[in-house]
Amino acid sequence: VKIIGYGGGRVGVTDTASVWDVSALSSTQPGQFPPVAAVDIVSRFDELRPRIDEIIAGAPIAALADVVLDTPIPWCNKLLAYPANYDAHVAEMHTGNRADVNGFFLKATSSLSGAGAPVVLPVIPEAAIHHESELAIIIGRGGRNIATEDARKHVFGYSCLIDVTVRGKQERVMRKSFDSFCPVGPWIVTADEVADPTDLDMTLTVNGELRQQANTRDLIVGIDEMVALASSVCTLYPGDLIATGTPAGVGLIVPGDEVTIRIASVGEMTVQVIAGGPITNRAFPTTMASAPTADI
Ligand code: MN
Repeated sequence: VKIIGYGGGRVGVTDTASVWDVSALSSTQPGQFPPVAAVDIVSRFDELRPRIDEIIAGAPIAALADVVLDTPIPWCNKLLAYPANYDAHVAEMHTGNRADVNGFFLKATSSLSGAGAPVVLPVIPEAAIHHESELAIIIGRGGRNIATEDARKHVFGYSCLIDVTVRGKQERVMRKSFDSFCPVGPWIVTADEVADPTDLDMTLTVNGELRQQANTRDLIVGIDEMVALASSVCTLYPGDLIATGTPAGVGLIVPGDEVTIRIASVGEMTVQVIAGGPITNRAFPTTMASAPTADI
């Protein structure tokens, strides 16, 4: 099935045309803080599945086109990300970094946003802000020291993720953690609906122009290995997200752009890019002209 977040804290299921509300299956209240209804439902999904199927057998509550999509998991324990995980992207960045050598990093979970929200670019003079097209893995069953061969049992599903990034010499976590810098959606497709996640075509377009095109078979650290590697360091929890890395073709986004990411068997998400306010602090100076752009 496909799981959505919508309406400011509700959890739904969609067939891509209609929406069924499954919020009542969570022990939390829609709109409450912290917004953990989706994590709750993901953590008990197998147990809840018969009740979800009963709800889907009934009448939908809305058309998908009529709801405002939130990010499916707004309050995960961790948003992990692998940098430099496609050879062609490693080459274009002229970096010595590789995911199989450098492992993963963290991006602020508060940067998560949904298909219904714009990417808000801070105004940093001369800064390059890039799109990165990525497959997201959503953890279903948590664990520590998960073996590579067991990894798939811990995967709940997949989604489209755009890892928005300010290029520069600042700490990566800061350059990638602005609010709205991690659109995820439009839904999570459960793993049973993705026949082979290691063979998924992915594209990203900006205003209809093809910027990135790849297949997940070209990942340096593969899907199972990413789960195993992450869990060798930290306990994974239901709802945790893993951004799997971007292929070649990263490029500028500017206010007014429309960015579309498509992943076969997963879905398609389009987000608008708008201007936010100016950011000036000691780490983001008013000019970025001297900042190296090769750091990913
Ligand atoms: Mn990335």
